[in-house]
Amino acid sequence: MNNLVSINNLVKYFDLGRGQRVHAVDNVTLDIGEQEIVGLVGESGSGKSTLGKTLLGLHDKPAGTVSFKGDQLPGKYRAADFQKYAPHMQMIFQDPYSSLNPRMTVGEIVGEGLRLHSDQSTAQVRDSVAEWLTRVGLEPDHMSRYPHEFSGGQRQRIGIARALILQPEFVVCDEPISALDVSVQAQVINLLDELKHSLGLTLLFIAHDLSMVRYVSDRMAVMYLGSIVEVGRADEVFFTPRHPYTKILVGSNPEPDPNLERQRASTTIEGEIPSPVNIPAGCRFANRCPKVMDQCRTQTPELLPLTEVAGETAPRHVACHLYAG
Ligand code: SF4
Repeated sequence: MNNLVSINNLVKYFDLGRGQRVHAVDNVTLDIGEQEIVGLVGESGSGKSTLGKTLLGLHDKPAGTVSFKGDQLPGKYRAADFQKYAPHMQMIFQDPYSSLNPRMTVGEIVGEGLRLHSDQSTAQVRDSVAEWLTRVGLEPDHMSRYPHEFSGGQRQRIGIARALILQPEFVVCDEPISALDVSVQAQVINLLDELKHSLGLTLLFIAHDLSMVRYVSDRMAVMYLGSIVEVGRADEVFFTPRHPYTKILVGSNPEPDPNLERQRASTTIEGEIPSPVNIPAGCRFANRCPKVMDQCRTQTPELLPLTEVAGETAPRHVACHLYAG
């Protein structure tokens, strides 16, 4: 499989002034293959959304690189860069309520990308919008209505049509179902799954729900305090997590089957997540890790491949001293 997106030692921080910085993304390296779905999980504040936005040029890149189809993307986007890359790389946002301009009709929202990035006539844009509204399960005559006239699930379908009308190759799905009722989450996931296969999309799927990520993703990457601590095939990471943080994250994931939930030992993470302004030396998880060793407090573990994992079908990478050497 060829890589569509290659992330190398990517860093994103936000200056707070007086020499202080929020280290939102720190030294992240990750490849995403063509037509692959990589799920990205971690607690709130772990840097998942910032990573997704940085990939798309919505944040500048103070250090590290992102390549798309072998083409290194600019560290800081100018208008011409958005014009060049936006048709190929799009985002589906978390909140279908705030991400749609309430003053624009659905037709204007969904067709905006074509008006900005194509030479289609007004009639052609209108036809494309009608086609995409149908494709995401809405009606062509919805294009004259406004976002407030739709339910949350319908608004997310509008957001999906807006992102996909340009037929991008790569889409960042930033918690696309977390603001929706449970009853419509599966509908939106099934729609994304169908569109992924029919359009040959490559997705970075950001979510809290590990069961959902396991269901939709080929591989799963686990983020903690701005860094990736484990990555591997989604089902293998879910069923045989290696990093102590992944084990706790999997253990604390709600089990939809009440019988299994009752049998399962509940797992909670002790302690507070450190401040991203004052990243601790050594392993970032050391103050919460049940397996912490002396070296963990001084030496930063690298994300390295596990060499001997029987039966695994893709290399597993883990950043933990328990597996070093
Ligand atoms: Fe725990 Fe040490 Fe591994 Fe960090 S490096 S996860 S503190 S065992």
